[in-house]
Formats: sequence, structure tokens, C-alpha cells
Amino acid sequence: MLKKELGIGTFRDLIYYYPYKYIDRTKFYTIREIQSQMPYIQVKGTLAALEVVAAGKVQRLVGLLKDETGVLELIWFQGIKWQKENLKLNTRYIVFGKPSEFNGRINVVHPEMEPDGAQLLTPSGIFQAHYNTTENLKKKFVHSKVIHKLILSLLEKLPGKVEETLPPSLLRKLKLMPLEESLLTVHKPENTTDLRKARFRLKFEELFFIQLKILGLKHSRETKFKGFPFTQIGYNFNTFYHDFLPFELTNAQKRVLKEIRRDVGRSQQMNRLLQGDVGSGKTLVALMSALMALDNGFQACMMAPTEILAQQHFNTISKLVDGMNLEIALLTGSTKTSERQVIHEKLQSGKLNLLIGTHALIEDSVSFSQLGLVIIDEQHRFGVAQRAKLWQKNDTIPPHVLVMTATPIPRTLAMTVYGDLDVSVIDELPPGRKPVQTMHYFENRRAQVINFLRQQINAGRQVYIVYPLISESEKSDLKNLEEGFRHVTELFPEFSVSMVHGRLKPAHKDREMQKFKEGETRIMVATTVIEVGVDVPNASVMVIESAERFGLSQLHQLRGRVGRGADQSYCILMSSYKISNESRKRLSTMVRTNDGFEIAEMDMKLRGPGDLEGTQQSGIGFDLKIANLSKDTEILQLARETAGEILQNDPQLASSENLILRKGILSNKKTEFEWSVIS
Ligand code: ADP
Ligand code: MG
Repeated sequence: MLKKELGIGTFRDLIYYYPYKYIDRTKFYTIREIQSQMPYIQVKGTLAALEVVAAGKVQRLVGLLKDETGVLELIWFQGIKWQKENLKLNTRYIVFGKPSEFNGRINVVHPEMEPDGAQLLTPSGIFQAHYNTTENLKKKFVHSKVIHKLILSLLEKLPGKVEETLPPSLLRKLKLMPLEESLLTVHKPENTTDLRKARFRLKFEELFFIQLKILGLKHSRETKFKGFPFTQIGYNFNTFYHDFLPFELTNAQKRVLKEIRRDVGRSQQMNRLLQGDVGSGKTLVALMSALMALDNGFQACMMAPTEILAQQHFNTISKLVDGMNLEIALLTGSTKTSERQVIHEKLQSGKLNLLIGTHALIEDSVSFSQLGLVIIDEQHRFGVAQRAKLWQKNDTIPPHVLVMTATPIPRTLAMTVYGDLDVSVIDELPPGRKPVQTMHYFENRRAQVINFLRQQINAGRQVYIVYPLISESEKSDLKNLEEGFRHVTELFPEFSVSMVHGRLKPAHKDREMQKFKEGETRIMVATTVIEVGVDVPNASVMVIESAERFGLSQLHQLRGRVGRGADQSYCILMSSYKISNESRKRLSTMVRTNDGFEIAEMDMKLRGPGDLEGTQQSGIGFDLKIANLSKDTEILQLARETAGEILQNDPQLASSENLILRKGILSNKKTEFEWSVIS
């Protein structure tokens, strides 16, 4: 069962199964001191009553624990028979558990009970380690305590059997606790200082080996793969810059272009991630990078995740370079065969300069004469394997790669998930943008919201209304959306309304989007399918229904759909009254800030890195056992720097001192992500 439920199949697995928390069992509360929001409490008292209470079909066992200061209610819903037989009335117990509040009374549900005076249940010094288990294990009574006991008996046999995984010089230099001592300590800490040291060492090791692997791959790629040096800035770039560019570049855009210019100027392949909040002007940077390729006799391509986005890029870019005598084409799933034929020919003859499209670009039939630059927009929609396919469009030297994302990624995540890429950030919006004003309202303000929408539409604006649709197959959500649509059409009989959701045929969806874009419809009722990239500058209000059901980065993405024109834009978050603390935090973060990076950090804090958008497709195993990317920033930084230094001096890890590290990488399954395919 341990194997099946927790992946623990060997002693080694067991030893590396770390506690998720420690509880100081030296502290006792009196009953009067207990408050419902305390994470856990420990009290001593006498069991004064114990009886089964039935409410309908549900039975519960209720006990009353007394001390000098009051009475505490103890409740069991399960194992009633066993508890009733084993607990003794008028006996003193040590009670441990999480307090909660019900009908104004504080109680503890399913407390741990130990007779007072029995050998204390903390065989491991003063801190009791707690381990995660699963529902299935708990059904078989394999609670945290049982796992702890298994580990403790294993620890007795441990000394002398654990091989160190880090070189002695590194242990000395960073004053790290040896592995064996760390493992013993982390399961059986004697004091907080040692515990901190042990955890530091184990976290460091975990992050260090990942960094060693990522940086090792990066290094080997940089030495193995040449790149085409774009030696000159030429006619296209200069003409565009001086005669066509409709506005001044922002400083951030200039800086990023310089970084790209430096990369592509070397004879090494560029692999750069460009992060920039929605509306920060990434398209322009992409276009100007493509012009660098063109100036050096190369072709470029740009891949977007959806047809409508590809179309939009094609339109925007065609307009920007109109008059420059460049050949640009659009290739998507719905491109006609005859057109396709022409595109293929022009690509191979080298006549076509820039190809924009969807993943249709990846198809084997698409081959270039001389592909110099690949631009991938909205990275999180593409898997690593798809990235790799574009690399292979050239036989010998791979094209330079620029990956763009509008989902700001916390720094620590970027260092791991995109650790093999160099990162550029556009951290400045074009001038004159008015920040979107965000409000959070409950149902009681709906009438006002509706008036406001009417006022905005009458003033010429357009409005999005977004409904949650967690999974496209959830019928009830679709019903919500359709009801919402009906409701909106009734409320606003004077305006035409569009509706899009993921179940519509792509052609139908695109038609509705187009109608909205052209202003034919004034209100767009939609699910999050509109989340990515669509540009309708005239839309100035984003209403998000049941906003408590959206994740933070999704809310931020949605908000990015407005605020693209000259008008003041608004984002209105509607929620029910009853929302969790976490939802409340998400919504208040949205109201407080427009800063995508701040939001990304908060998102990671609230959700943990494993759930963040993009990490699933990233190919990296996010089963970090002890390190936490949202908390261990400094350790991660140290791990990355240390790994970098070591690789700099010994890229192959060939020295006798570093052999141990090579062994560590090989035995570390966790770092076997798919980048190896690319490299
Ligand atoms: P995103 O980073 O979300 O892809 P876009 O490239 O779509 O952003 O740019 C958003 C809008 O800002 C576009 O309408 C674009 O023309 C405009 N824009 C981009 N750069 C500048 C600039 N330097 N000055 C003024 N407007 C700009
Ligand atoms: Mg964009």
C-alpha cells in the first residue's frame, strides 16, 4: 500500500519521505485559551462524558473534556465503536487536535487521545514530525504516526549506511550538514537549530542537482549547437525603425532588443524567453527581431497558439510593414490546399520572408530555405516537444529561438522551468496607458453594474462578460453560460450580443470574435477561451462572473483583454458573498495591483508552483520533496550559483572531486525531464 499510495517501495524511499510539518508537543493550553483558528492545540483534562448522538442517519460520538478552566467538546464521526470501547470515563487524557467552531462552540473533531502519564507519544524529542498520508492509507489506519514509527525504526539502522552525495569541499565551503546527519535530524529533530540546518542541506541538495542538470544541458547545448551569426543590422531593420515605426520604443523594448541583438550576433544559438505583461508590446519586439534575420538573408517564422491569434499577428504585422516590400504569409489549419502549395514553394525558394501561423507550422511538409529565427508566442500553450520540432527545421544549424510569454513567471520558477533559457523582461508599458481600474462587487451591486455597462456601451465602448468554465465538458457550467447569455440579451435588448465557448466549432467561434472585433456586437459573453491575446482596443469593460472560481493568473490574463485603447478601462469582479479566505486574497490582490509579476508571486504562494499554468507542459517533475519554490528563493539562488561555478571550472564534471556529482545526477530521476530530447 505504501508503494501504491505514496511511491514508497524501498528503505531509501522511506528515508526520503520527509515530514511536512513539526509540532511542538511541549506546549499545553488550558481549555479557556483555545481559539477556533489555532492550527492545533494540546490540552490535559478529564474525560467527563461520552455518548453517541444521532442526528438523522448520522451518528457521532461526543465527549466532554474538563480542566480547571472549562469544558471542551470532542467529536468523532468515524470509529465510534472502537473509541467508545477504548476511552475511559473520568480518566485524565492528553488531547491533541485541530480546534474548529460549530454553532458558536469550539470543538475538536477526531482528536488524538493519549492517557496522561503514559509514555509520551513523542518518541522523537520535543518536535513531533508529521507525515502526509492518503485517504486509503488512513482507512487502513496508516496515519502519520504509523509512518513516523516505521521511519524511526529504520533510523536506528541508518548510521554508517548513508553515502554522502556532495563533495567534501562543498560541504565545508557552504557549511552544510552531512547527508546522514541531515536525514536523521529531519525525522527526529532535537532542537530548532539542527532542524534548520538539516532542512537547509536537504533543500539545497534537491535544488542543486536540478540546477546542475539544467545548466549542464544549457552548457552542452551552447557548445554543441552553433547558431547563425546575424552580423549586420541592415536595410529592413533600419528602414522600419526610421520610417515605419509608428511610435517611440519604450526603454524596456530597446533594452530587450539589444539583448536579442547580442545573442543573435554570436555564432551560438539563441534560446531566449521574453516575458512581458499583456500589452507591453512584445509583438513589436518579435517583428524587429525577425527583421534582423531578414537583414542577414534568413527567413523567420512566428507561431501562435490559436488561429485567431495567428491571424491577428498577421494583420498587425502586415499593416506595420506595409510598403516595405516584404513577403509575409499566414499558415493555419484552415489554409486552403492551393494556398498552401504556393506558400510551400515560396518558402523553399526563399522568396517568403516571414511565415506566421499556428502549430500548422510544425508539420513536416513545411520546410524553409534558410530558417534563421523562430518566434513562439504565448509559450505556455506549447509543449517542449513542439518547441523541439521547430529546431529541426534546419538540417545542420538550428534557428535562433525566441519564446514569448505574457504569463509572468516568478523568478524562482523561471530559474527552474525555463532554467535553460536566457530571460528578458519587458517591465514597462507603452506611455499613455491608463491602468485598468479593478473593483470587486457582490450580488447586491448588480443593478449598478448593469447601469454602468449600459452607460459605457452608449458611450461607444464594448464589454466582455466572462463565465467560469472549469472544464469544457462540465454541463452545468455551460448551462450557466447559456443562461447568462439569455439574461444579458434580455437585459440589453438594444445591443447585439456575441457568445463564444470552447464547444463551438472553430469557424463559428472565429466568426463571433470577428463580429465583436468589428464592433458589430457590443457585448461578448464568453468563457476563458478569450483569455489569450485577442486585441479589441475598443472593449473597455471586463466583467468576470463568479470571479472567486478563477485562478489569479487567469484573472490577470482576462483583465489584460481590456485597457488596450485610449479609454479608461474597468475590470469588475463579481462574486458570491460566501467565499474562502484564499479567494478573498486573490480578489483583493487583483483590486490592489496591476503588476503581473507581483500577481504571479502571489499566485505561486497561494497555489504552490506545481499547479501554476505552464509547469505541467514544461516537462519538469514538480515533485520537489522538501524545497519550496515560493519560499526557498535564496537557497535556489545559491544552488544555481554554486552549480554554475562548478560547471564553469569542470563542465564535464570529470575531476575526481566532482565524480560524486555526476553520479548524483545520474541517480536523480527527478531531473530526467524532456530537455534531453532537444539537446
Ligand atoms: P503584448 O505584449 O500583449 O503582445 P502587443 O504587442 O499586442 O502587446 O502591444 C499592445 C499594444 O501596444 C499594441 O496596440 C501595440 O501597437 C502598442 N505598442 C507597442 N509598443 C508600443 C510603444 N512603444 N509605444 C506605443 N504603443 C506601443
Ligand atoms: Mg501578444
